[in-house]
Amino acid sequence: MTATRILLLGPPGAGKGTQAERLVEEFGIPQISTGDMLRTAVAEGTDIGREAKTYMDRGDLVPDSVVIGVAEERLSKADAAEGFILDGFPRTTAQAQALDILLDRIGSKLERCVALVVDEEAVVKRLLKRAEIEGRSDDNEETIRNRMSVYHDSTKPLIEYYSERGLMAEVDGMGSVDDIADRIREALGD
Ligand code: AMP
Repeated sequence: MTATRILLLGPPGAGKGTQAERLVEEFGIPQISTGDMLRTAVAEGTDIGREAKTYMDRGDLVPDSVVIGVAEERLSKADAAEGFILDGFPRTTAQAQALDILLDRIGSKLERCVALVVDEEAVVKRLLKRAEIEGRSDDNEETIRNRMSVYHDSTKPLIEYYSERGLMAEVDGMGSVDDIADRIREALGD
């Protein structure tokens, strides 16, 4: 059986979003990206958006209490009942623990965590290029370096967290989108 309750982990710019979109097409399950949801909240000028913006512009993590609420609301929707692709959540141990509790409460369970392993200098270059194309306010060199260091300090420990639970699959995240998608598909099998 192929896992459909999936978490994609990896540094910013590793291609999680691109791969998540592939999985959405293939499995018909939703991508849950807290980054996308927070950007929408910022664009709409909601209270959450106003609170999140300062952190996002610096490349810092938005406080757990805010992000956990956003993720819980989305995961509780009917379309996530049969599967989901978490992209960019959880990013801290506290978020991972909150996710465990939430999934338990709604009778669900994470089936696989796929960590994209990439050359970080190559990724920084990719992010700088994306900054030019998309004009995201959190994509300048200083912010990108900060996001990478935040990933190391706060998010990378989750590889250990999910390894201990027997859910971790580390996948080579360098190469063509198709090749990486093939590796992920393999990692999602039994
Ligand atoms: P992303 O598009 O996933 O790279 O997220 C963009 C920004 O949104 C991050 O740099 C954080 O400021 C914020 N963000 C997204 N997801 C989270 C999360 N799970 N925890 C804290 N901050 C987040």
